[in-house]
Amino acid sequence: MTLITSIKNKILIFAILATIIPSTGLGLLFFWKNEQMVADNVTHQLRTLALDASRELEFWLEERTAEVRTLSTSNTVINGLSAQSPPSLPRYLQLVQEKLNSLLQLSIYNANGKLIASSGPSPAPILLPNPWPQSALTHGVIIKAPHRNQTHDATTLTLAVPVLSMENEILGALVAVIDLNTVLPSLKYSAQLSPGAILLLDLDGNPLLATHRGKDTSFVPIARQVLQRLRADNSMPITFEGHLQKTVLGLAIVPNKLPLMVLVERDRDEIYEAWLVSRNLFLGLMTLLTLIVSAFAWRLGRSIVTPLERLTTAADHIATGDLTIRLPVARRDELGHLTEVFNQMTEKLQRSHKEFESASLTLKKQNKLLETLSVTDSLTGLYNRKKLDDILDDQLERFKRNQRPFAVLMLDIDHFKALNDTYGHLAGDQVLESIARTFNRSIRNIDFAARYGGEEFAIVLPETGLSAARDMAERILTQVRGAAYQFNDQSIAVTLSIGVTISRNDDKTPEAVLSRADKMLYKAKSAGRNQVTCSD
Ligand code: GH3
Ligand code: MG
Ligand code: MG
Repeated sequence: MTLITSIKNKILIFAILATIIPSTGLGLLFFWKNEQMVADNVTHQLRTLALDASRELEFWLEERTAEVRTLSTSNTVINGLSAQSPPSLPRYLQLVQEKLNSLLQLSIYNANGKLIASSGPSPAPILLPNPWPQSALTHGVIIKAPHRNQTHDATTLTLAVPVLSMENEILGALVAVIDLNTVLPSLKYSAQLSPGAILLLDLDGNPLLATHRGKDTSFVPIARQVLQRLRADNSMPITFEGHLQKTVLGLAIVPNKLPLMVLVERDRDEIYEAWLVSRNLFLGLMTLLTLIVSAFAWRLGRSIVTPLERLTTAADHIATGDLTIRLPVARRDELGHLTEVFNQMTEKLQRSHKEFESASLTLKKQNKLLETLSVTDSLTGLYNRKKLDDILDDQLERFKRNQRPFAVLMLDIDHFKALNDTYGHLAGDQVLESIARTFNRSIRNIDFAARYGGEEFAIVLPETGLSAARDMAERILTQVRGAAYQFNDQSIAVTLSIGVTISRNDDKTPEAVLSRADKMLYKAKSAGRNQVTCSD
């Protein structure tokens, strides 16, 4: 039986499909929705984190600007700059710089951009705006974007504010080198409120600062293509290789007042960890469910197919004629009922079969009897004339084939009419019967004795020559002659006349042989009866 034609397998396949299709469908829908929810959630959290960080950064910048601006209005600075290189100015700047730990260096330039005094070693030459923008007179201005400062071995931001005289004339500029690392505590605080790492990048994508650092403290620059995508999708998270060389989800925004990028990122594996656990749990559960359902379906299939197979085998037995087969009825369902009906049917069939067999046997016996009767003489029990013709036909056929002659004896009771007249017709009948018995006793099994008609008989001896036939005729004559036939206490003597012949090649019909035997019988009668005459 091929895979799909077996009922058992069909049930199994159906059960597996019926389990897998709906549960997979629902599972996929659930996980798809779940993944979307996770993604939405992460997007929201990352956006919040980026905005928080950006706000903290701006707030920090405002504070630093305010500090520098306040300093720029101090009398010492204004007077010192008016006096052009006062000896106390560097010392003052040094004192202030040491007090404010975000400041790494303070320098004062005159209106022409010449360095007047500095808190530290000679700063790098700086290009001051000329003229100053109107906004710079009231707000701080960032002159230099954040970068890695070799002199201070730190990531720094350079702020410059104009120094105004009492009459609001620009005397020069106060330039502050600020340590960007001092914003880190504020950023770390934001990172504690929303999960994720905050990374500050310069506009070329080089990392400046990070709330989370790996064991290896060196940063990996963000790839140019990633940077382009981050700028393009600035509010949607994208997946990329993060600064700790892990696959992350991240987004970037550029704060209004600062020439840098705020990048926020989260480890992708960590985000989808719970999702993955529940997916694996689901797959495990589904496999278990499928196994359980398959086991049930297999048992169900077997419980249907096994009785069906038994029924099929039993039906095969019946087809080959074995009607004795019965099946055990072990269940109360439709199959049990079917088995019960099957047994009843088989029983009925067996009964009918037996009846039919016995009827057919009786018929056979009757046929046999009819057949016997149709070839038997009713008085003597010998073959009748019709059967004699058939025997002779058959013998002549055989003789023509094998050239072995058969003999025919024609026998007639002598003076039978007188016997009838003397003892009566009944006695004649009895004598006929007794003589038939004498014939049957005298001949061989292979010979045939028939009543030819009235008190005349014929005996056919297959494969017998003339001399053996004559011997047989003599023996019969002797037997009959010697027998004393009894009727009503009277002993009746009987003699026969017998004509004998054998088949010849020129015998065309059985009648030819018969008529020759008859001629011999006539001869015997003529010669005085109670004797045997042979054709040669
Ligand atoms: P033959 O020696 O020349 O043969 O003389 P026969 O008297 O025997 O011959 P015939 O032909 O003259 O007579 C035959 C008689 O046999 C006549 C008939 O009544 C008698 N017969 C024929 N069939 C039966 C029968 O079935 N029963 C009785 N009882 N007699 C029969
Ligand atoms: Mg006669
Ligand atoms: Mg006679």
